[in-house]
Formats: sequence, structure tokens, C-alpha cells
Amino acid sequence: MKKITVLGVTGSIGTQTIDVVTGHPDEFEIVAMSAGHNIKKLEEIMNQLPVPHICVLEQKDYDYLSEKYPDRHFYLGQEGLIQISTLEETEIVLNAIVGFAGLLPTIEAIKAGKDIALANKETLVVAGHIIIPLAKEYGIQLLPVDSEHSAIFQSMHGEYPREISKILLTCSGGSFRDKSLDELKDATVEQALNHPNWSMGAKITIDSATLVNKGLEVMEAKWLFDVDYDDIEVLIHPESVVHSMIECTDTAVIGQLGTPDMRLPIQYALTYPHRKPLINSKRLSLSDIGTLHFYKPDTERFKALPLAYRAGRIGGSMPCVFNGANEEANQLFRDGKIKFLEIVDLIEEAMNAHTVVENPSLDELIKIDADARAFVRKKVGL
Ligand code: NAD
Ligand code: MG
Repeated sequence: MKKITVLGVTGSIGTQTIDVVTGHPDEFEIVAMSAGHNIKKLEEIMNQLPVPHICVLEQKDYDYLSEKYPDRHFYLGQEGLIQISTLEETEIVLNAIVGFAGLLPTIEAIKAGKDIALANKETLVVAGHIIIPLAKEYGIQLLPVDSEHSAIFQSMHGEYPREISKILLTCSGGSFRDKSLDELKDATVEQALNHPNWSMGAKITIDSATLVNKGLEVMEAKWLFDVDYDDIEVLIHPESVVHSMIECTDTAVIGQLGTPDMRLPIQYALTYPHRKPLINSKRLSLSDIGTLHFYKPDTERFKALPLAYRAGRIGGSMPCVFNGANEEANQLFRDGKIKFLEIVDLIEEAMNAHTVVENPSLDELIKIDADARAFVRKKVGL
């Protein structure tokens, strides 16, 4: 039995993790889990699985649950997230929290020797320079859950890292793939949330529409696979069948294909290096699909992508600014406070106003993240 702590259990990745775990009750056991604000969903999961250790964000939820479920152990806030990520019995922490908030529990879990299944890409974007050396120092496994990175990871097995020349990162193009710049000006939240291929949390769905998500994934790939930015190429692939590829020095291209189902990369991160049947899955039928398309992204309409490369190449604290400004602007767009195209404009302005700190410490990152958010709010008069 693999003993798992799931952070962000009520979200899109979290609930699909429950699906994977309940599909293999002899393989996996969730020993701890955390939720943000969706307590109804959390209680549903609690009724389904006898998870003993549970962390919530709000004092009122903590009080309510502690009284109603006296046989379980409850934890609170950031401190609680760290406590359930470092429990003696936990072997692997699946981090499916959204945003910067996932960083601290990841760091503490690594220091406690836990393997990490990482969906929370923001962690690597802002602090890859801390996480990667720490993972090496503590000898833990850092397993990607993001579908593209899982595909790259799967494609790399049996290859020598030195003999991989390039990463081909595929991208559905998001909900606005075929919209003109003019149409994007008045794009609504509802339209942006309507992703063609994947059903995901709100923040990442908006990030997919701006292509910020692909930008974050470029930086995530840089850290996970130790490649130069020049060797990461983004390809628009509307069908989301080829989840990503590698190119080797002899020009061989190797990729992982499948239906768009996040449960596969989630499960693979938990079963690695083995594979298990994926319960209730659909097999890929290439003859039904018939044709696959690939083309270069339009960086005029989607300037988040070149901006992310710029942030990544500058390095130091710049990716943290890119991420923090985006988290704030993404939320402001969802709250109806700014327009769609302003999201990326604000990221760019925050980056332009920032003086880079080389090799920022965790404390510096916390401050830089807060400053980037404050900059964005101030820019829009909040
Ligand atoms: P989501 O919004 O559906 O769920 C987020 C979870 O984190 C929820 O349980 C929520 O309660 C919790 N949470 C939110 N803010 C928190 C905070 N400040 N402190 C503690 N907990 C908090 O998000 P999601 O779509 O499941 O995405 C989670 C992560 O996985 C993101 O980093 C995203 O980029 C990544 N990811 C998601 C998908 C997907 O298909 N959904 C695919 C690839 C990567
Ligand atoms: Mg992805």
C-alpha cells in the first residue's frame, strides 16, 4: 500500500486523484488530505474514504469539522499543510493546490524525505532553483503530474539525458485558439472558461486561454528536465492527443499519446515505474481521429508565451514576478475587474518594473510574490 497525502483534494486534480485511488484500493491509501473552501465536497470525500488527517484553511471550517467528526485529526492553514505533508506515515505527497500557496508544503515535504507528485506547477516556476537541488539533496523523487511533463518523462525512459536535443511541448491552444485579437478584446470570463479539450480548475483554464499556462509549463520543463530555453519548442496541437515529445540527437522523435484524461498522469506519478490499468478509461482510437495537426503558436495574439520565455531566460526572481502578477490578474479577470487582454499587459508591466534578484531565498520569493500582486492591484486602481 502506498500511503499518500493529497493537497487540494477538492479540486479538479484532487477529485481525479480520488478516482484513481478508489480504483485501486489495494494499491493506494490516502492518509491525509487538504481542502480550501469547498467543505461540502471535502465532507463527501470524507464519507467515501476514512482519511484520518485533514487540513482546512479557515478556523470556522476547522471548528465545524472537529466537532462533527471527533474521530479524525484536523489541521489548520499553512502550518497544517506542512504538518500533513510531513506525517511519519506519508510516502508521497500529491500536490494539487493551485498557485504559490503550494510552495512551502512542497519544500517541507522534500525535507521530510517524501516523494512528490507535482501538479502545482507554480512551485517549480517560482522556486525551481530551490526545489531541484533540494530534491537531489534529500534523494526524493519529483514526479510530474502535468500531462505534458508526464509525457516527456515517459518519453525519456531508456534515453541518455545528454542524447536528448529538444523538448516538443504540445498545447491545445485553449478556448481562444482561433479568436482574432479584436475578438479577444471583449472576451468574457464565461467564454474563457469553456476549454475545448480539458475540464480543469478555473485558474488554469484562464491560464490556458491566455497561454500563460504554456509559458508556466515551459519554465516547469526547464527545471524538471534540465534543458535550455532554446531547446523547448511549443507546438499548437488542437486535438490534445500527443501529450508532448522529445527529439533525440539522431533526430528520432518520441512522444506519448492518449485520450485527454488527467487520471493517467496522476496514476502514473503514483505507480511509477509501474503501470496499472486505468479504471473506466477510453482507449485511444487513432483511426477514429484520423488526422492530427501541429503548428507554431501565434505570439502576436498570445504574447504571454514570449513573455514567459523572457522571464525564464532572465531567471532569478523574474519568473516569480511573472507568476505572482498572473495569479492576481487572472483572479481580477474572473472577478470582472479587468479585461481579458489586460491580464498579460499587467504581467508585462510588473516584469518591466521589477529589479531582478539573483538566486532569491524563500523569504525573498514570498515578498516578491506579494509585491507583484500589489503592483497589479495598484495599476488597476484597487
Ligand atoms: P482547482 O482550483 O480545481 O483546485 C485547487 C485545490 O487547491 C482545491 O482543493 C482548493 O481548495 C485548494 N486551494 C486553493 N487555494 C488554496 C490555498 N491558498 N491554500 C490551500 N489550498 C488551496 O485547481 P486544479 O485545476 O485542480 O489545479 C491544481 C494544480 O494543478 C494547479 O497548479 C494547476 O496548474 C495544476 N494542473 C491542473 C490540471 C487540471 O487538469 N486541472 C492539469 C495540469 C496541471
Ligand atoms: Mg499541462
